[in-house]
Amino acid sequence: MKKEALFYEKLEGKEVHCFLCPHHCRIADGCFGICGVRKNDGGILFTLSYSRPIALHVDPIEKKPLYHFMPGTSTFSLATKGCNFRCGFCQNWQISQDKKNFHAGDYNVNYKPENIVASAEKSNCSSISYTYTEPTIFFEYAQDIARLAKDKGLANVFVTNGYMEKDVIVAIEPYLDAANIDLKSFSDSFYREFCGGSLSPVLGTIELMRELGIWIEITTLIIPGLNDSKAELRSIAEFISSVNKGIPWHISKFHPDYKMLDNVDTSRDVLELAKKIGADFGLRYVYIGNVGRSQDTICYKCNKIIIRRLAFDVVERNMRDNKCLYCNCIIDGVKLTSLTK
Ligand code: SF4
Repeated sequence: MKKEALFYEKLEGKEVHCFLCPHHCRIADGCFGICGVRKNDGGILFTLSYSRPIALHVDPIEKKPLYHFMPGTSTFSLATKGCNFRCGFCQNWQISQDKKNFHAGDYNVNYKPENIVASAEKSNCSSISYTYTEPTIFFEYAQDIARLAKDKGLANVFVTNGYMEKDVIVAIEPYLDAANIDLKSFSDSFYREFCGGSLSPVLGTIELMRELGIWIEITTLIIPGLNDSKAELRSIAEFISSVNKGIPWHISKFHPDYKMLDNVDTSRDVLELAKKIGADFGLRYVYIGNVGRSQDTICYKCNKIIIRRLAFDVVERNMRDNKCLYCNCIIDGVKLTSLTK
């Protein structure tokens, strides 16, 4: 469905200026923005991803990954095509980087916001996750779904690269409960060379979401030779720690994909080193992901297992009222013990 976009202004000569994300595309009549899903048609900017999901799936919330937000619940995941980044290591590149079908106009589904919310309820999900590709670029669709979902008592989750404008975060905040934000590197040149973006807006998103009370967790995919130096891992951990030590950091193992088929897997040693660095900077919860092993949640005070997992399932919970059952210390997170679905 073609719907007029939010967050843009009309310029002279039927040109438009989109300010949904920091790319701030100026788009001539008949042309697309960098994300490939917003088109200037006759001097009006349209979103072409509205009501056109490319993926719908029920996932454990742990798979986002969110380990401290309603653990053990199911989330209804959706994505549309397109992305405002072009990461050469993208693990969902088949849908995030496939923009040609939008251009050809041969991709037609019509899945309205009310359909998504009804499907989430029917699937017994506690939340809806805007994930797999970048939710910023289908903002209008996400916001309309999120509003309806909130009315029905469902939570909303963004899994995002964090590359969005501050006004956009403020606009979605009343409906957004949690986000997993990628912090792919602490180097601006990495963002420019490998993602087609920049670092500073991502840091700003992390700070602002936390300030607004949105529950956040952070993921870093560690790519051998690109962002795995001790100095860089220290910078990332130091930054997260400066925002809040209770923010969980997910260190994710890289495996060759898309344009980086010649690179090697991240070694166990580097993942363990990153985990130690996180702990050295006082981060209370650091998880190693993508390694095919379960990750338990450990109390940062008494070191006992408070949430035991088998793959993505919660199989044991030693907590009461968000507190450790052994030492009574408060564990950071949202609804860690009160499971509804
Ligand atoms: S959302 Fe798309 S069109 Fe808008 S500024 Fe970002 S990349 Fe450009």
